[in-house]
Amino acid sequence: MNDVFLSIGTNIGKREENLKQAVQLLKKQVDVIKVSSIYETAPVGYTDQPSFLNIAVHIKTKWNAAETLVVCQSVENELGRVRDIRWGPRIIDLDILLFNHDKIETDSLIVPHPRMYERAFVLVPLVEISESFESGQMTQARDTLDKLDLQQEGITLWKKAEDFNREGNV
Ligand code: ATP
Ligand code: MG
Ligand code: MG
Repeated sequence: MNDVFLSIGTNIGKREENLKQAVQLLKKQVDVIKVSSIYETAPVGYTDQPSFLNIAVHIKTKWNAAETLVVCQSVENELGRVRDIRWGPRIIDLDILLFNHDKIETDSLIVPHPRMYERAFVLVPLVEISESFESGQMTQARDTLDKLDLQQEGITLWKKAEDFNREGNV
């Protein structure tokens, strides 16, 4: 089984509901091992849009990396994601952060995710659920996070994992 960490973000509609549905749809295709707390973050890049809710999810799956990307895209499609402005508003975004200890570089997939170390909204939930998985990439994620000023990054805890797991039945 492959150990995979995903980042999921949303900033349109019922944001918590979108996250919950994404996790439930994932469960139909992979084993969901752990879901992080929900964090809220002001938008980066294209800043004229609502703030985001983000989580990280640890999954185990027999799918290879390319197939796992297809799983992620199928969940995005089922939730009705339309692609227009890059880094613009979206109902749901599922990105592969880490796939085992692999380094992957194809036309459609780069792992570790090329922008993960710049993003507090990726690193904070990832590190929260990372204790069962050791890798150089995870160490780098923890070390990078240690140096970030989370207040300055505009990230706040929005709902604790235990509450999201209970209320969201995820
Ligand atoms: P960002 O990659 O900066 O988070 P984004 O998630 O908004 O931006 P998308 O529009 O969701 O970008 O995806 C654009 C393309 O990125 C996808 O078609 C996919 O093939 C590619 N891609 C490359 N690496 C990854 C990865 N690790 N996880 C998900 N998609 C990836
Ligand atoms: Mg993304
Ligand atoms: Mg994406």
